[in-house]
Amino acid sequence: MEAIIQVKNLTKIYRMGDEVIRAVDDVSFDINKGEVCCLLGSSGSGKSTLLNLLAGIERRTKGEILIEGKPIHKMNEKQLAKFRQKYLGFVFQSYNLIGSMTALENVALPLVFKRISKKARDKRSASMLKAVGLGNRMKHKPKEMSGGQQQRVGIARAFVAKPDIVFADEPTGNLDSKTTKEVIKLIRDIARENNQTIILVTHDSEIAKYADRIIRIFDGKIQSIEVVKNEEDLNNESVSENSKENFDNVTDRISIAN
Ligand code: ADP
Ligand code: MG
Repeated sequence: MEAIIQVKNLTKIYRMGDEVIRAVDDVSFDINKGEVCCLLGSSGSGKSTLLNLLAGIERRTKGEILIEGKPIHKMNEKQLAKFRQKYLGFVFQSYNLIGSMTALENVALPLVFKRISKKARDKRSASMLKAVGLGNRMKHKPKEMSGGQQQRVGIARAFVAKPDIVFADEPTGNLDSKTTKEVIKLIRDIARENNQTIILVTHDSEIAKYADRIIRIFDGKIQSIEVVKNEEDLNNESVSENSKENFDNVTDRISIAN
């Protein structure tokens, strides 16, 4: 197993007047390539802070964060922005779609910053929307879709540039329980098919069950790390070997499965 994220003695301290908050308190762990990893903990435990540190959005107080062997804590803002664009995708609790744009335009947005023609961008975005079951909603704007559909657009956008790692902070926080399961499975299935790594933040232990690894956070510290092994994992092992070249075939298969 190859570690894609390595965290060593990571600490984030916030100072609010006289108060010192150790939001992340000396944590060390590795996340393997292709793993769906869940950061599980109650509100205020430090999950979002940890996710934002790993994604290079927050600056650490102490410790090391290596992604694909690169020490991101040493990068400047410009390097970090480039790094995020190249390697990372994001799914947000509130979807963060652009209201004036169609589903297709929203999904294509991360590709605008890459050297890809408009035609190719639209083609890939359309295939991604089909993969999340929204082939018939390409021209809809966010307000013309349900919450679950909007989050599917958010997922398509997060994956369209084929990032190595996708970060999702409470991605189902605004969804009902049935849609929640569908959305989590969708994120997991796309990631598995393409050997992408997922960092999923939640306070909900039901959601954590879909992960390969559960890191329990309490008061900024790691309480436990649990590796979840189920039969489905074993069956899927050969599939997850599929490389990125097969992305289009694979996403087509997911759309058929849906
Ligand atoms: P979670 O995502 O698990 O709910 P957070 O990572 O958002 O938790 O917060 C962890 C702790 O750090 C909380 O006590 C919170 O109040 C504090 N905190 C988070 N962000 C900031 C900030 N920007 N400034 C000061 N304190 C913060
Ligand atoms: Mg949070």
